[in-house]
Amino acid sequence: MTTAAHTSPNAPPEALGSGLAPGADRIRRDLLDWYGKQRRSLPWRDTRDPYCIWVSEVMLQQTQVATVIAFYERWLRRFPDVAALAGAETEDVLRAWEGLGYYSRARNLQRAAREVVSRHGGCLPASVEALLALPGIGRYSAGAIASIAYGADEPAIDGNIVRVLTRLFALPGDPKRAPLSRRLWLLARELLPSGRAGDFNQALMELGATVCTPRSPRCASCPLQGQCAALRADRVLDYPESAPRPTPTLERRAVAWVKKNGRVLAVRAPAGAARWAGMWQFPDIELGAQQAPKTALAKGIERGTGLRVLVGERLLALRHQVTRFRIELEVFDCAVSDGRARALAYDEVRWLREGELGTVPMPAAHRKIARSAAAP
Ligand code: SF4
Repeated sequence: MTTAAHTSPNAPPEALGSGLAPGADRIRRDLLDWYGKQRRSLPWRDTRDPYCIWVSEVMLQQTQVATVIAFYERWLRRFPDVAALAGAETEDVLRAWEGLGYYSRARNLQRAAREVVSRHGGCLPASVEALLALPGIGRYSAGAIASIAYGADEPAIDGNIVRVLTRLFALPGDPKRAPLSRRLWLLARELLPSGRAGDFNQALMELGATVCTPRSPRCASCPLQGQCAALRADRVLDYPESAPRPTPTLERRAVAWVKKNGRVLAVRAPAGAARWAGMWQFPDIELGAQQAPKTALAKGIERGTGLRVLVGERLLALRHQVTRFRIELEVFDCAVSDGRARALAYDEVRWLREGELGTVPMPAAHRKIARSAAAP
């Protein structure tokens, strides 16, 4: 194995404009040629509508292309433009997002849509600065929207592009931190072909998604193989360097399936809740390491809803991963013994018929509970 031709992470950024991207012209030409022939036909590539491109970019963060396509098409039928999204009920927005996870993305989309209507006359702004001022739009999304929808010469760096660039130029270091994160943005800007930044950004993303993949890159089919420093050094899988993932935190929760007169008790998490804000779920509590679930659950339900319940048998247990939490849920059959349900620790409580459960937005774990516990 040969030694990688590393570029020093301590080199001054000015060096980027004077040769950090050797072979830039050829990289631009080869990559754009390849993209012209190989690019996948995706619904958001048939439009320059900034709203559609924005929606697709937000959905594609954390979610695979194959999953996003159906959500994207359904979303645009439901909320065809910024005004429709801004004017919708938040509950409908969250319901339409259900299944994509990371619900803050949907809440921020709607908050930003409302700002676009109130401050920008319903048109998504074109400049990176104005885009960055909107809720939920970070540097990547701002660059993607500005370049793809408005043709601005702006870079956009997502995980796919980080992988391609760190391999192409054999760049060591943690790409999430300076100095490498800063170098990558400067490098991406230097590589941009003026007037074709949108295509070029998408070509880099496409290469990362389909050829320069994390574990099995297909270097033999790569249009940039002749210029790739990591390939030359036989160190492709050494890039990008990544910090070790934190071990997931275990969280135990007990959930109450409370039935009365053929209806189930559901609660809506407060708008400011750290998890699942504004979404519907079944009332639950977090359990301490050694805590017995039944007594704790009865107390928790009374605290949160004012209802006294008798906690019966365990109906089901399931595991669910949310961000860095591994959540173990135990669901108990509960019967009301006294009291009237009130929203003491929630924004709202409702007794829902099982058929109505599908009409309210629920996080995936509670949707599973609804399906399993309601099944005959
Ligand atoms: Fe990625 Fe291999 Fe292409 Fe280099 S040659 S950019 S490692 S796919």
